[in-house]
Amino acid sequence: MATQKKRIVILGAGFGGLFAAVEFERLARLLPGVEVTLVDSNNYHLFVPLLYHVATGGIEPGNICFPVRSILKNGGAAPPVVFRECQVQSLDLEKKRVITDRAELDYDYLIFALGSTTNYYGIPGLEQNIVPLKTIADGVAMHNRILESFEAALFETESQKQRELLTFVIVGGGATGVELACTMALFVFKTLERDFPTVASQARVVLVEAGDGLLHGMRSELGQLTLKRLKRYRVEVILNCRVASATATGIQTKDGQLIPSRNVIWVGGVKPDPLAQAIPAEKARDGRIIVDPNLEVPSLPGVYIIGDCAYALQPGTSIAYPQTAQTAVRMGTYAAGNIARVMMGYPACPFDYKYKGDLVFLGRNYAVGEFLGRVISGFPAFYMYQGYHLVTLTGFRNKLITVIDWAYDYFYRQSTVKLR
Ligand SMILES: Cc1cc2nc3c(=O)[nH]c(=O)nc-3n(C[C@H](O)[C@H](O)[C@H](O)COP(=O)(O)OP(=O)(O)OC[C@H]3O[C@@H](n4cnc5c(N)ncnc54)[C@H](O)[C@@H]3O)c2cc1C
Repeated sequence: MATQKKRIVILGAGFGGLFAAVEFERLARLLPGVEVTLVDSNNYHLFVPLLYHVATGGIEPGNICFPVRSILKNGGAAPPVVFRECQVQSLDLEKKRVITDRAELDYDYLIFALGSTTNYYGIPGLEQNIVPLKTIADGVAMHNRILESFEAALFETESQKQRELLTFVIVGGGATGVELACTMALFVFKTLERDFPTVASQARVVLVEAGDGLLHGMRSELGQLTLKRLKRYRVEVILNCRVASATATGIQTKDGQLIPSRNVIWVGGVKPDPLAQAIPAEKARDGRIIVDPNLEVPSLPGVYIIGDCAYALQPGTSIAYPQTAQTAVRMGTYAAGNIARVMMGYPACPFDYKYKGDLVFLGRNYAVGEFLGRVISGFPAFYMYQGYHLVTLTGFRNKLITVIDWAYDYFYRQSTVKLR
């Protein structure tokens, strides 16, 4: 049992941090007198995997945001876990202190779960000219920008400029990129074609991928099925194509192609939060902090890194766990459990999680995925995708409204309301 008052601070109420907090609530009886504080710059948990549905009018933004306080016991106002909305500005690892815009928080144990930011890989012009997809504001901004482009195209008299406005280029052929390309094609070619018949013939949806196939890291059959499906939805897929630079009117590729577009969406990669990059610890090539099997930083006892910032090897391999919500959730639960074990005088337990598989949404009645080692596609995968996301989406209200939104899109159309 804990004998003295210990302070645990969890940074980030995303997938990793929130599940760590929930685990501490579950273990609260075993940890009397332990203070747990969860910190985030937003007072809501964002269900990022459905963000592209917001961007393409399939789901209302509020349905994928859930107030953190309503998830925690006692509204996050009193133990077992207290929530504080504030922006983390820096860490003083020597003094074991977190500096935020509202207060300084001392800790004995720290769980760092601030996630990742968009990685522009130093490509000239990219950051200034592309649309990112990471926050709820990005999702809403992208939705508005698609609609705004169609409205502006009606007034445009030069056909070159009209084409630039109506060409939507998605860079990155991973799961997020193909899901976005698919829902974008449905939005542009089904919903908006009806509303803007005079300019709709100019519209293009282009998916650019640096590798020679889609869904890199998953089984090659999934990439091939996805390619077929995207072509059916009139998505132009360009493989083996690297972006060299971007301007307000398009991208230049390394092989000299110019793709004119005023709507380039970058889902080409992420890098750990800048505060993770500032932590003086050994890092992997992708910038993630190398943690030991218990998710602790070897040179910083008491500091646990989880989720997108953690580079943890899968047991018996030299492959790191992928940066996914599934991984972050498991890491959150494990890190909390390990801190509890250490405080109670037991040895920590190495992180070991069998990846359950992937599901990729590819439009109406169709998804592809790998489940328990088998490739699945079509109708069964589509219903597994919807079922899985509804089960994991936080809050009954959100689940209910999302079902209604999905049913409405299925039978009618995606939302074309420009949001402020
Ligand atoms: C568009 C998109 C689609 C995705 N789709 C899928 C999918 O289908 N399946 C899947 O498994 N994974 C998906 N992912 C990846 C998944 O979202 C991440 O791997 C997961 O969110 C990582 O969890 P995390 O806890 O590390 O960080 P996050 O969930 O990103 O949480 C980080 C938290 O830290 C907070 N924060 C950041 N900086 C500060 C600061 N300075 N001060 C205070 N708070 C701060 C943020 O507000 C956020 O709440 C997707 C990612 C994106 C961008």
